[in-house]
Amino acid sequence: MVGPAHLLRWEVPDVRARVVRDDEIEGELARLRAATTKAIERLRAVKARAAEKAGQAESAIFDVQISMLEDAELREQVETLVRQNLAPEKAFDIVMLDWRDHFGRSTNPMMRERTGDLVDVHIRLLSILLGLPDHDPVDLAPGSNAIVVTHDLTPSLTMQLDRRAIAGIATDAGTRTSHVAILARSLGLPAVVGLIDATSRITSGERVILDGSNGRLVVKPTAAELSQFADRARREAAAQAELATLLDAEALTTDGVHISLRANVDLPDEAGAAAAAGAEGVGLMRTEFLVVGRTAMPTEDEQYEAYKRVIAAFGKHPVVIRTYDVGGDKLPVGGFPHEPNPFLGWRAIRMCLDEPELFKVQLRAMLRAAMHGDLRIMLPLVVTVDEVRQARFLLLEAADELTARGVAHRRDVPLGVMVETPAAAVSVDSFVKEVAFLSIGTNDLVQYTLAVDRGNASLVTRYTPLHPAVLRLIARTVEVGDGAGLEVSVCGEMASQPLMAYALLGLGVTKLSVAAVSLPAVKRIVRGVSTAGAATAARAALDAGTAREAARVLRAGLQAELGEELLDGLLGLG
Ligand code: PEP
Ligand code: MG
Repeated sequence: MVGPAHLLRWEVPDVRARVVRDDEIEGELARLRAATTKAIERLRAVKARAAEKAGQAESAIFDVQISMLEDAELREQVETLVRQNLAPEKAFDIVMLDWRDHFGRSTNPMMRERTGDLVDVHIRLLSILLGLPDHDPVDLAPGSNAIVVTHDLTPSLTMQLDRRAIAGIATDAGTRTSHVAILARSLGLPAVVGLIDATSRITSGERVILDGSNGRLVVKPTAAELSQFADRARREAAAQAELATLLDAEALTTDGVHISLRANVDLPDEAGAAAAAGAEGVGLMRTEFLVVGRTAMPTEDEQYEAYKRVIAAFGKHPVVIRTYDVGGDKLPVGGFPHEPNPFLGWRAIRMCLDEPELFKVQLRAMLRAAMHGDLRIMLPLVVTVDEVRQARFLLLEAADELTARGVAHRRDVPLGVMVETPAAAVSVDSFVKEVAFLSIGTNDLVQYTLAVDRGNASLVTRYTPLHPAVLRLIARTVEVGDGAGLEVSVCGEMASQPLMAYALLGLGVTKLSVAAVSLPAVKRIVRGVSTAGAATAARAALDAGTAREAARVLRAGLQAELGEELLDGLLGLG
């Protein structure tokens, strides 16, 4: 991907105080009003786009921001300061800081939730007053083919980006397994994350190569770099085209074991493409993207429609829908407590069990959608069987509520858990007695086993899924799950990376769930290897002292089975 960089600073700019003369006041007030009108127009444009992408309810957040800019009291306070000879940008800055402070300290949670909107309004109007196009994503015209370079992608920023204007994203923050990257992948948007200092190295307009395969951003590439990149892009396109021919081929290992390949679906709209890519169902539907970036939880009917849509795309294949995994790095726009350690905090099943009424809205929607196909419910981040028991109790209550309302639903929906904490993996023998299936969430399992924040770009070299401790927890989960006759799958990013997928096959995993874009490459690996060879390599990896040693033995095994050239090609695509 080659294009002009567009540096996007979604942050409140520094404003210096400036005194205006008495005879300039009227002119400055007119400038302030014109800027406010322009900000409101932009918000209306963003609102229309959000309504198209995410629905009317969602776009309402921009109405809140428009009403803030139209607020008579706010306008009066700013204009009073201008009449006292302060330039409009400083006057607005002072008033906004005061309002944000006031809202932020309010005892009313509804008011506190609005602080984020005030920040957005603060940035938007100042960027217009100060003439800072870098601060406003709306300044990107459709067809710009821009590579947006920004510090981090927040839900509100993601909503504002116009897909017709951007060709890719590069961020300072984030990692392969952070949810920004996961979401960008499911939107099919090329992204390189975790560059640490890209925003300070790049100026808008500079030509850049966004090199997704190597996770690099090349600034002002030389002719040689451009031609090298073009060569590689051609080779990768050819490899992709070859993979596309596998669409109807079965995912069968060379020793005849069928591996079930399912898709991870983050947004209901992706389901059709995932089914068309040959997925045998959905191994993980992340429902929190129905919530992230929104001001309110979706209703039962809205969720029912979303789940039904995914099920409809997959016919008789299973669709595993995960209950809300909100928290960590997936937060609604407002209304979530600020925590010192969000990944160890009030996340996922913890939040759901503490908010049973909210949780039951989701459970009812799932039980209703289960009428239309093979829906299965999965609980994230469990650490104790008590959580499964409580969730099951709420599931029965949800079913009773639907019965009382006379609404069609299924009561016997299989309930499974994600094994993504060391606690769940070590005590998996207790879980298998109470659940219908297990799915290993390696993104979190690695983070919690190694105590390495999965989203911290400075720790990427320490985030090593092939660490023998992780492999041993996976091996144990598979062994105990198989022994109990339960389905065990893997739905973390490990399943889509060649060496790791090979390790998983070797550890006895026969069901993998990956992003739709990764399906063909994973199928190619499956079709080129034997479970016996993978098992030998995985045994050696389990005995390895370090992740690096494990990677070495896995690579040797995989290379022997696939050949060097194909392996290198696949590693490039991963
Ligand atoms: C995981 O943790 O591996 C997983 C699949 O869930 P998420 O990435 O949404 O935390
Ligand atoms: Mg997880």
